[in-house]
Amino acid sequence: MKIFGFGAQNADDKLAPIVFERQDPRSGEVAIKITHCGICHSDLHQVRNDWGNTQYPCVPGHEVSGVVTAVGEGVKKFKEGDRVGVGCMVNSCQVCDPCQRGEENYCSGPKSFTLTYNGPANPDGTNTYGGYTTDLVAREEFVLQVPDAVKSEMVGPILCAGITVYSPMKHWNLKKGQTLGVAGIGGLGHMAIQLGKALGAEVVAFTRSPEKEDAILKLGADKVVISTDDDQMASMAQSLDLLINTIPVSHELDPYIALMRPNSALVVVGNMIDFPEFSPAPLVFNRITVAGSLIGGIRETQEVLDLCAEYDIAPQIKMIGIDEINDVFDTLASGGDSEFRHVINMETLREHKAIKNEEAKTIPNPDRGEVVNRK
Ligand code: NDP
Repeated sequence: MKIFGFGAQNADDKLAPIVFERQDPRSGEVAIKITHCGICHSDLHQVRNDWGNTQYPCVPGHEVSGVVTAVGEGVKKFKEGDRVGVGCMVNSCQVCDPCQRGEENYCSGPKSFTLTYNGPANPDGTNTYGGYTTDLVAREEFVLQVPDAVKSEMVGPILCAGITVYSPMKHWNLKKGQTLGVAGIGGLGHMAIQLGKALGAEVVAFTRSPEKEDAILKLGADKVVISTDDDQMASMAQSLDLLINTIPVSHELDPYIALMRPNSALVVVGNMIDFPEFSPAPLVFNRITVAGSLIGGIRETQEVLDLCAEYDIAPQIKMIGIDEINDVFDTLASGGDSEFRHVINMETLREHKAIKNEEAKTIPNPDRGEVVNRK
């Protein structure tokens, strides 16, 4: 299959039109025409090599929504024409303990999981290209069924932003009567507010951006705290049972630890770069856990998609054309604007002049790993 997309050749590169070939769906695989793809802050980190592990060319996109165009032999769950989604993974070992528990995101098999893009460099040297493309192929176990109530343009952000904040809520057993804090109200944060309310928690949003206050309250937050205001932060001391911290850059943790009640958990999902030193004393005196969490397993991802349908939860999105992608990256890099999530309308890629004029740069074909289900 000839595929068009937008990708970067190195960390300083703008995303530009590219062309490559994907193999047709093999046994157990599903081919998907992409209709929409959300833009996650991780796409920016990966393209700009913030984590030091980017394989170039880098073709991002792991908030994929589309329609099945073909299925490989033996595929049972999907047929041509089904509306589907793909999140951050397209395969895993499927036999290790975490995979058997439905936590493919913590796959401990020798080859770990295969990310939708920037797939594992070791041990087999595969690279994968993601959803800023016309079509994608994934193993059927990693393809999500889209409930009728969820519009196609809303699917993608649930499959990364949504599951990444839902999974820690489930793991730390957030429930009615408890208080959830959410720090950084962008793509992940705005989904956390809505999902936390659906689980019955009191939700407090911590933002640096007073101009977002009305929109945050409309999402259902019970309270908005301006995180740069020391008095407002002090008024929330020891008030949270769970804090989901989505801030994408290095920042002081002490002010957030001070918000935590005894026996609570502060879960970092954002910054994966570094943290300044923080004091362990409040952790010891209040038995506070500082933890991390990575996306979620496929079963849980389907669960959050179904929950969004049931509770009428939708990401707040701004739809963009593929040509606007570099501007959105620059905006996210400078701390974001009033939009919670941008979603690319992939028709604008199919109609792109570089593609019509055959001016896209040819890049090496990707390798999405082994053919067979390793089960
Ligand atoms: P967004 O850019 O959409 O939102 C991040 C929010 O954090 C901003 O809206 C802003 O909120 C706040 N923020 C931004 N810059 C700063 C800054 N310099 N200092 C303090 N606060 C800041 O990002 P996403 O929600 O898409 O992603 C957030 C992070 O989560 C990224 O680092 C991403 O890589 C990571 N991630 C992790 C996953 C995992 O599995 N653990 C999965 C997906 C993403 P406000 O204006 O309210 O302060």
